[in-house]
Amino acid sequence: MLAKIQHSIDGTIKMLFKLSDGQLVETVALVFRKKYTLCLSSQVGCRFNCVFCFTGKQKLQRSLTAKEIIDQYLAAWNYLKENKKTIATANIVFMGQGEPLDNFEAIKESILYFMQTDGIKLGPRQITISTAGYLPGLKRFLELPPINLAISLHCADSVKRSQIMPINKKYPIEDIINVVKNFPLAKKQYIAFEYLLIKNFNDQIDDAYGLFGLIKELKAIVNLIPFNPYPGTLFERSSKDEVDEFKQWLVKLRLRTMIRASRGLDIMAACGQLRSPDHR
Ligand code: SF4
Repeated sequence: MLAKIQHSIDGTIKMLFKLSDGQLVETVALVFRKKYTLCLSSQVGCRFNCVFCFTGKQKLQRSLTAKEIIDQYLAAWNYLKENKKTIATANIVFMGQGEPLDNFEAIKESILYFMQTDGIKLGPRQITISTAGYLPGLKRFLELPPINLAISLHCADSVKRSQIMPINKKYPIEDIINVVKNFPLAKKQYIAFEYLLIKNFNDQIDDAYGLFGLIKELKAIVNLIPFNPYPGTLFERSSKDEVDEFKQWLVKLRLRTMIRASRGLDIMAACGQLRSPDHR
């Protein structure tokens, strides 16, 4: 049930859903040239506790069922159709609360629904899964239709990555790269590497070279995201100049690189800022 809606000044909409057992999850609708993308949650909370992520501060309560994931999409899309007069189906990114590959069966069932149901019929390239590097799920990735894959990298140095992403201690980034480098990709398809820029932690030239060394043999695109602060965090976001400089280092190394603007900051809807309100 759609319980609350917040609107950002940049057009982003954050929706709060109340599940049948009273648990709460957030969904974000991002708009670009009047076309919406829905950032869906796959779990209530998360067990991987990345230190830059507000969701990670909320322990895993449970995974969503396929029906709850589908209902989340349908309710959000119906809201957009009725209130924003959009008729196009919304694309999907599984980048909300939770690690989608830690809820593999439900994610798979929901993806098949989104691709096969009349009136929705999303193509595989309209769906993206983002993972922090949950290797057991990643090893099953090719069981899914050929959707897009995004890897939350944030640091190429394994020791430093473990400091901000404890999952890296169990599933080191080198093992993740070894698995994904064999994934078949269509002509215009890339593996996206999400890279949150944290001031004086991972935004120096050595970090750029380390990133290049790790992914240089992959068909990859790097999405740079300035860190989005949340209450109680000790991290600071890199300045605009630092983000631009980091991008230039990567471009000179011939890595395809984009800077992703933070959307919905004023309503805590940006990347890494979601959290169920009853667990704040
Ligand atoms: S970034 Fe993803 S995997 Fe890490 S704590 Fe947040 S939701 Fe979990």
